[in-house]
Amino acid sequence: MIDAGALFALSHSGGKDSQGGSIRLRSLVSADQLIVVHAPLGRVEWPGTLAHIRATIGDLPLILARANEDLLAKVRRRGYFPTPSVRNCTSDLKRGPISRELRRYLKANPQFGGRIVSCMGLRADESRDRARRSPFNFSASSSKAGRHWIDWLPIHHWSEARVFAEIAAAGERPHWVYAKGMTGCSCSFCIMATRDDLRRAAQLRPRLAAEYIALEEEIGHTLSPTRIPLREITGEAPAPAKIAR
Ligand code: SF4
Repeated sequence: MIDAGALFALSHSGGKDSQGGSIRLRSLVSADQLIVVHAPLGRVEWPGTLAHIRATIGDLPLILARANEDLLAKVRRRGYFPTPSVRNCTSDLKRGPISRELRRYLKANPQFGGRIVSCMGLRADESRDRARRSPFNFSASSSKAGRHWIDWLPIHHWSEARVFAEIAAAGERPHWVYAKGMTGCSCSFCIMATRDDLRRAAQLRPRLAAEYIALEEEIGHTLSPTRIPLREITGEAPAPAKIAR
């Protein structure tokens, strides 16, 4: 696909694995075949994310793929938080808008001949599900209307230690939240986050934590799949009567 002149598009969350993916792609693919796409998550995203992405991708084009509704509005309308098994936040806020923008970009740039390699920084180490994924897949569902679409995980085989080592070797720094003790970086309060990350996020963003806590109590559903209310996880007095399911 490199030799065929395909477009390589990296979905970048601002996190270390996206950054690792950017480093690997820039070492393999020429800049005129590379773009970066980010789905901004608005106020639920860590401050400084867009600036961090811009500062670490050199001169590559950066496309923003916006969803038409933010996460908290969606949760309030639906009355429940997404879960790790039904992660409609990822599909609604990231995958869907990113695919839409990549289709547009490909159409507007016929020099790529409809060929695209869509890249993400997922790693096998992260979970059993991710370890089972093939790093390279032809996407029949996206290969329509003259498109030839490959999904690729360029750092699937990297360890977490290697990601940080490659970032340092490239003379870059990871997003500031890692130095503050966070292990993940995308939504500040993620449905998949560990309790420690939720606690740390609440210390770093107390006003947003209060908004999540109020929303949990309003809809009677918890962000954390442990079903422990955020108020309790973050050390506030529990309000057991309000969290029913
Ligand atoms: S970071 Fe977590 S909460 Fe945010 S969209 Fe991704 S999975 Fe959902």
